Amino acid sequence: KELMSQVNDIQLNQNISKRISLSNLENNELKQLQEHMNNMLSAIEIDREKLLEDEQAKRNWLEDAVAKRTEALQFSNDVLKELATRDSLTGVLNRGSFFESAQHQLVLSQEQKSPTSFVLMDLDYFKTINDTYGHFIGDQVLIHFTKTIQRLLRKSDLIGRVGGEEFALFLINTDIDGAFLLADKIREVVADSTLDIDGKQVSYTVSLGVESALPADHLIGDLFKRADVKLYGAKDKGRDRVEK
Ligand code: GH3
Ligand code: MG
Ligand code: MG
Repeated sequence: KELMSQVNDIQLNQNISKRISLSNLENNELKQLQEHMNNMLSAIEIDREKLLEDEQAKRNWLEDAVAKRTEALQFSNDVLKELATRDSLTGVLNRGSFFESAQHQLVLSQEQKSPTSFVLMDLDYFKTINDTYGHFIGDQVLIHFTKTIQRLLRKSDLIGRVGGEEFALFLINTDIDGAFLLADKIREVVADSTLDIDGKQVSYTVSLGVESALPADHLIGDLFKRADVKLYGAKDKGRDRVEK
């Protein structure tokens, strides 16, 4: 009875660290049976601990694998995002992401009644550069242009490639005079620079149109259109110049 009761207790409570311990045990079969059952319990207990350890090891491995995979996915996402938002030749924002970011910044700045400006830039006689030196050197000029002007920009200035040889800047905290000064500096630095490619000396110029947001402006496209009119004026007046 006592044996059955203790076995039941272990079964019911699933407590395998308990051992059977009969009172008034004499050196008989019951004692052997108790020893045998306790040995079995010990073996089960060891097995169970081992299983738990294995399970924990598997869980750790799985967590590790998931963490590594998540990191790899995050990296791919970053690369994809970079590919989706940047122009592959020059590394500046592509047209879509430039306008998206500029639109966002415009709305924020208008809410805070803070001045913003838009500069549209188009390389002069770029077709002639391609025709004279070839498309490869034309590409190097585009890269040179973005590298050159990036040195003149602040961290908060947005730069995007909005067409083949057409680039745009969106400047926060910048009124028309500040934007004109920057635009003219860009014009001057570009006009004074010479590229040395494959033993060829290449110089080029850029025309720029500058516009600032009016209190009623809330669409970046409107600023872009007005800057385009100014740019057209700069081309009309002979190129290598800024119109505001
Ligand atoms: P303008 O002074 O009036 O702006 O004259 P332009 O020759 O610069 O203007 P046009 O629009 O006639 O020519 C632009 C040229 O830019 C034509 C096109 O082949 C070239 N272009 C556009 N994208 C690229 C590019 O990624 N690489 C190179 N090398 N050329 C490009
Ligand atoms: Mg051009
Ligand atoms: Mg153009």
